[in-house]
Amino acid sequence: MPELFIGGKWTAAVGGQVREIRCPADGTLVATVDEAGPQDAARAVAAARDAFDGGPWPATSAAERGRLLLRVADLLEREKDALARAESLDTGKRLVESEYDMDDIANCFRYFGNLVASGGKDRIVDTGNPDADSRVVHEPVGVCSLITPWNYPLLQTAWKVAPALGAGNTFVLKPSELTPHTAIILMRLLAEAGLPDGVANLVLGAGQSVGAPLTEDPRVDLVSFTGGLVTGRRIMAAAAPTVKKVALELGGKNPNIVFSDADFEAAVDYALLAVFLHSGQVCSAGARLLVQVELHDAFVDEIVRRARAIPLGGPFDDHARAGPLISAGHRDKVEAYVAAGLAEGAVLRCGGARPDDPALQKGYYYLPTVLDDCTPGMSVVRDESFGPVLTVERFRNEEEALALANDTMYGLAGAVWTQDVAKGRRVASRLRAGTVWINDFHPYVPQAEWGGMKQSGFGRELGPAGLAEYEEAKHVWRNLSPSPQRWFE
Ligand code: NDP
Repeated sequence: MPELFIGGKWTAAVGGQVREIRCPADGTLVATVDEAGPQDAARAVAAARDAFDGGPWPATSAAERGRLLLRVADLLEREKDALARAESLDTGKRLVESEYDMDDIANCFRYFGNLVASGGKDRIVDTGNPDADSRVVHEPVGVCSLITPWNYPLLQTAWKVAPALGAGNTFVLKPSELTPHTAIILMRLLAEAGLPDGVANLVLGAGQSVGAPLTEDPRVDLVSFTGGLVTGRRIMAAAAPTVKKVALELGGKNPNIVFSDADFEAAVDYALLAVFLHSGQVCSAGARLLVQVELHDAFVDEIVRRARAIPLGGPFDDHARAGPLISAGHRDKVEAYVAAGLAEGAVLRCGGARPDDPALQKGYYYLPTVLDDCTPGMSVVRDESFGPVLTVERFRNEEEALALANDTMYGLAGAVWTQDVAKGRRVASRLRAGTVWINDFHPYVPQAEWGGMKQSGFGRELGPAGLAEYEEAKHVWRNLSPSPQRWFE
């Protein structure tokens, strides 16, 4: 069966092109899928436009839209095993991590289903005028281009698709060219749940040939993008001539601040999780460890001891605790980034190389790496590596910790570790980031907004604001007893 989904039909690419998807853990062929081009992107936008302008979905009641999202959540649970397996084969991530992701994805649909069904957003405005009826209603934005990356393919898709549908929009989804499979399954489930034809459309293909047209097309009203900063800037520029709404989630260089009064065992454990989860390919990864000077030596020694012991392996290796990087090209970038750090004076404490285990040679593995004695000006501290690389800086006091933590163009997430409640609150309130954890790292819930400050982007996903991204507020005024005003007499 062809893999593009346009106007409710599975279709091959107009150009007849295909792409091989290979598992990053060992290079095995997962599947060959259709590779869309600009004409397919245009077909998909046309289908989404027709479904928005003439189809039933935008006018469906909020209760019905909510019910559909809840049905999708049930179907995602039913297909959890197949989805998790597909995600792990595309990304190389451990199966257990994909299984956690699938639970979160079903919960995301369930959250937005309930939020939408509960309604209650529209409001009557008290104008003080008994002859006027004034209401603010919420309507869908229109046709949405949803562009997602390869690190959490279906999760990041769910964060966009669930609210987009909940608000009554139609969309064209373009997942990363490297990780298409869970998006394909999602389209089947949306159709099974009863979504009308043309509301959900899927094109698979490269950023330049498929993503770019989706950001430029005048028939598109909104672009929601998760991915790299450079692509985000390009998308913002491409959307400008037609003044589309844009939401960008562009990653971060997230500080993890550890004060000397932190719970040592917990802070070490979470510092490892913060940076090495999914081999660092996480937008909120705690890649910058800031440690108070008196704690530094013991803390970093323990991090290094435990980082050296992290077993690497493929998605179905029960012994493994971290997997490969997504591609050879991405591993090359991580290597260049570490080399630049060492050239700038960082001290390599562990890793900094590919593993020599013969069993891992076919995958894109890279050892968990700790770079000590880093300073704020180093590129290794400033730029996002998106790999298993931890930089360590020292600070003397709270002010210095905050200055270092905020000395970044990014502002996605950050954490502070201390047993002093007031200090934790103070630091959290002064961190310029969209999410702050105190004595924790990485948890999120669909009820709470997610997004960045500064060059981590703008707009919010999840929470009520995550739904609002996909809505337009409209003021409707009704004059209950119209009579001539005679303004010009
Ligand atoms: P990109 O930003 O290049 O890709 C993300 C998505 O955008 C993909 O679907 C990609 O398509 C698409 N895309 C690429 N170019 C365009 C364009 N001109 N117009 C529209 N869509 C486009 O991320 P990469 O995968 O190359 O990763 C680069 C860096 O981005 C990483 O090293 C990391 O720093 C960061 N990143 C951040 C993520 C986050 O969660 N915030 C997630 C992933 C990456 P395709 O891949 O098919 O070309």
